[in-house]
Order: sequence, then C-alpha cells, then structure tokens
Amino acid sequence: MNQAQTQDQTQVLKAVDLTRHYAVRRSPFSKPATVKALGGASFILNAGQTLAVVGESGCGKSTLARLVTLIEKPTSGTLEIGGLEVTSAGQQTIKSLHKTVQIVFQDPYGSLNPRQKIGTILQEPLKINTNLSAAERRAAAEKMMARVGLRPEHYDRYPHMFSGGQRQRIAIARALMLNPKIVILDEPVSALDVSIQAQVLNLLADLQEEFNLAFLFISHDLSVVRHIADEVIVMYLGRPVEHGSRDEIFANPQHPYTRALLSATPMADPNRKRARIKLTGELPSPINPPSGCPFHPRCHYAKDRCRQEVPVMQPAGASQVSCHGVEEGRITD
Ligand code: SF4
Repeated sequence: MNQAQTQDQTQVLKAVDLTRHYAVRRSPFSKPATVKALGGASFILNAGQTLAVVGESGCGKSTLARLVTLIEKPTSGTLEIGGLEVTSAGQQTIKSLHKTVQIVFQDPYGSLNPRQKIGTILQEPLKINTNLSAAERRAAAEKMMARVGLRPEHYDRYPHMFSGGQRQRIAIARALMLNPKIVILDEPVSALDVSIQAQVLNLLADLQEEFNLAFLFISHDLSVVRHIADEVIVMYLGRPVEHGSRDEIFANPQHPYTRALLSATPMADPNRKRARIKLTGELPSPINPPSGCPFHPRCHYAKDRCRQEVPVMQPAGASQVSCHGVEEGRITD
C-alpha cells in the first residue's frame, strides 16, 4: 500500500539504535570473537504501512526479524511495541506482545507441521492464546481460510496436498489468527514462481488494507520491494546505509551500495537509464569487518577518510544516508 492509501498513521513500533552482537568461538581453544550482526537500526513502523529491509544475505535482516519478533533481545538500543518498551519488559508483557507481532517465513514447506490438517494448524494459536470454544475456533479458522482464498474443503487436508502458493496462504492465515498489529514477512515470496509471487503480494496488500496491518518486509529482491514498500531501509553488513521513502530510494538512490543493488535489479521502466554498477568482491565477515566504512573495499568512491572513519546516518535530500562521499557531495549521477 502506498502512503496516500494508508488508513491510520498510528505508530505501532519504534526501534532506536537497535544493536545485536553475538560472541562466537572459531574453535574450542580460541578466544571468543564478537559478531556485530546488527548495529544501530532506528526506524518507526506505522499501522497500515510497509517498511522493507533489503540487502544481501548476512546483512542483518534476519537478526532484525528475530529482535522484532521478540525471539531475542537486543544487546543495546530500545524497542517499543504498541507503546511498551520491550527491552526491559517482564515475561508477562513479552507473552502478551507475542500476539501483537507475528511472522511469515520464506519457506511454507518448513513452517507448517506436515502431520497437522490445515484446520488444526489455523486453530492452534487460538487454542493456546484464547478461551474460544471448539466451534468458535473452527468458525474463525474457516473465515480466515476464505479470506486468504482457500476453499472450505481444504480444512481437512494436509500441507503436502497444496501448492507452494497455497501453502504460503495457509502460513499467512495462521499469522493473522490472533489479530496481530505487526507482521514480519521474511522473504515471503522468494520461494514462489513469479506469477504466484504477484498473487501473494496482492493478497498481502488486501489484507494490510483490511486489517490495517504494519508489515516489516524482509527481502533481498528490490523488484518485489518496489511493489509493496512504503519505506525502504538498505542494510550492509549489519548496518543501515540508506533509509527513505520507496519512491525516493528507487528514483534517487544515493549510497553507492543502494545504487549497485538497484542497477542489478530489472526495472519496469525501459526509459530509465542508469549505468550498471557491478558489485565486486565478497561480503566481508561480520567477525572482522573492514575499518571505517564497511563498504569501502567494494566501493569505487572510497577515499582515505572512508577507510578510517565510520560514517553515520544523516539527512541527505529526502532520505537518510551513511556515506562520507554523499556528505562531501562527491557522489553525483
Ligand atoms: Fe564508499 Fe566512502 Fe561512502 Fe563508504 S563512505 S560508501 S567507502 S564513499
């Protein structure tokens, strides 16, 4: 849904400088090293809007998803969901917030219990979290099945009897059974054929409008993000490098990494001419990230300052960008 269509601008989530480090050992005898999986993510999620988080694998997207779904706590920073500060919250508050935030995974094959019928899968969240009777649970499950485009006879079938797209519809239905405010969509269409991707994205857009849901849409695929996002955060090696409206990011990308990602994405507009920027080199290890700007070994605009000083997010036009080159006005079309 785009900004003009939003129903309600209520803030449902606020993350400030969200950071997650892990201690790892390369061998039983080595000293523990620190993996900086996520550093300094700040953003707001509003009801009825979609914030997309994009980047290569290993950029910190999945860590962010684990923090927002309350599977893990941040090392530092604050996370507020529905006005409640999560980082210092007790077990009871966390439990109640689990209903507010739900997740849909990339792989519907792996996330549905193959031994349970669809009706049972959809009823389970209600059984655990509500006092509804069996008849009420069944009615709610059947209603949600219809809402996501499944037929009544599907109620007694098992996951293996469905196509990939149908299975993702089941996973979406399960995520909505507890009436959440926030849904984390972790690469929800990456495993599907392109034609099915469009159907599932359309379904998500309809459900967002109907239930005024806030989506955190995690993806490596900018062509998908372009269809669904209101805002975009581009991540590189655990850090946000650019954050702006969908239109601004696609029309006026500023960070060299955003430009490289976009130049590798097929664009619907054939008149658009932007030189292909080839990303060279591998994503560095988050255990031993490059000094200064973590992107400098792969950046054509790198200067000495980039190798020494970590850039911070700051306003650049209508977006926020962390890049010395942008700040110095060195990066132009
Ligand atoms: Fe490139 Fe320097 Fe900007 Fe990093 S800070 S992206 S190295 S210009």
